Amino acid sequence: MNYYSLNRQSPTVSFAEAAVKGQAPDKGLYFPEHIPQLPANFIQDIRQYSKEEIGFLVMKPYVAGSLPDDVLQKIVKETVDFEFPLVQVNATNFSLELFHGPTLAFKDVGARFMSRCLGYFNRNSNNHVTVLVATSGDTGGAVANGFLGVEGVDVVILYPSGKVSPVQELQLTTCGQNITALEVDGSFDDCQAMVKQAFADAALNEKISLTSANSINVARWLPQQLYYFFAFQQWQETTPPVISVPSGNFGNICAGILAHISGLPVQHFVAACNANDVIPSYFTSGGNYQPKQAVATLSNAMDVGNPSNFIRVLELFGNQFPAVSKAVSAYSVDDETTLNTIKDVYEADGYILDPHGAVAYHALCEYVKDFGVIRTDYEPVIHNPKGIFLETAHPVKFPEAVEKATGQAVPVPDNVKHLFDKEKQSIKMSASFNDLKDWLMSRK
Ligand SMILES: *Cc1c(COP(=O)(O)O)cnc(C)c1O
Repeated sequence: MNYYSLNRQSPTVSFAEAAVKGQAPDKGLYFPEHIPQLPANFIQDIRQYSKEEIGFLVMKPYVAGSLPDDVLQKIVKETVDFEFPLVQVNATNFSLELFHGPTLAFKDVGARFMSRCLGYFNRNSNNHVTVLVATSGDTGGAVANGFLGVEGVDVVILYPSGKVSPVQELQLTTCGQNITALEVDGSFDDCQAMVKQAFADAALNEKISLTSANSINVARWLPQQLYYFFAFQQWQETTPPVISVPSGNFGNICAGILAHISGLPVQHFVAACNANDVIPSYFTSGGNYQPKQAVATLSNAMDVGNPSNFIRVLELFGNQFPAVSKAVSAYSVDDETTLNTIKDVYEADGYILDPHGAVAYHALCEYVKDFGVIRTDYEPVIHNPKGIFLETAHPVKFPEAVEKATGQAVPVPDNVKHLFDKEKQSIKMSASFNDLKDWLMSRK
């Protein structure tokens, strides 16, 4: 499989090159040259396949020419080494729990797959690669954990001091080995600016090979398709599900749509957004895309004002608005509704949503209310559809909002308890690029 740049000013490249580069030289996102079609009997018999087999079969065409089968098999096995349960919450809504990975958020799958790919592509180089990443909370933990122990790769994470939740901070600062956490006396924007400056600094790039773990990387984006296959494998209903995806940068939902276009039955996609409503406005305005400044919300992993992967969604539909709007709807859910949703679902069904899952839950209900009884523009016509919402983070990562809504402390899951026995290890740093540069230059 080759990948072209969506800006169409750079040559096509292999999966390996797209993964190592991240972004094309013309600053475009890489996109697969064709979308593989899955054999019909694979979908029909999906229950007979293991997670590892599904992962291998789905990913194989995308990495062809870059990863030998045995390497892909090993990478997939390590990537999906935890559960992805579909839990029925009430009569119509099912939660696909994507928070059973090591850092309790769905980014684990993409980060684990990408880190192992980069480790493999770098296997014959004597050069140590340094992955430099700024985080507001979730990404850093997933990237740190994904790269933990990967040979030839050092990871340096910048996070804003005092601005990540306690669980998030422990996940960032207790890995050890090849992972170093820099605790920056500043905001997330400061951290991001320092990282950007580092990539642009000639002297620094001459001394060390810097790589980014950006969320637009094909090796992070493509494996997210697997969630949708795992969901379908557990789906017992006769009609295909409506799937509601809490969306910020639109990488996850875009991967779901890709899975659908390759043959996975899905009735409709709901893009669930918080107050950052660029995409809901795109739909209500008939296809007018207007990026905005991001605003802070309770579902902060989706505080994005210019979703970088949406251009990939458009590409999947040939940039035709009618085709996009037939397959996808979008809703914006504010913080008050998010809290009320957490409270209502907890009281009615005893299920604890995190703020991101709550946005998706509410958007799914809105969609069903709008279109559920009969949808004439979609074949086949389906009555009272049942839906899946993606629960992308464990509620314990957002304890304040969840406790405010339910009045209860969030129970700490067993796989987090061990974190509280560990000691935070971070290097304090001012929010100045020169300090970062000096520190990077003086490392051995
Ligand atoms: C990153 C993230 C999202 C948004 O996913 P995108 O692929 O950026 O749309 C949603 N929920 C959680 C918990 C996240 O960490």
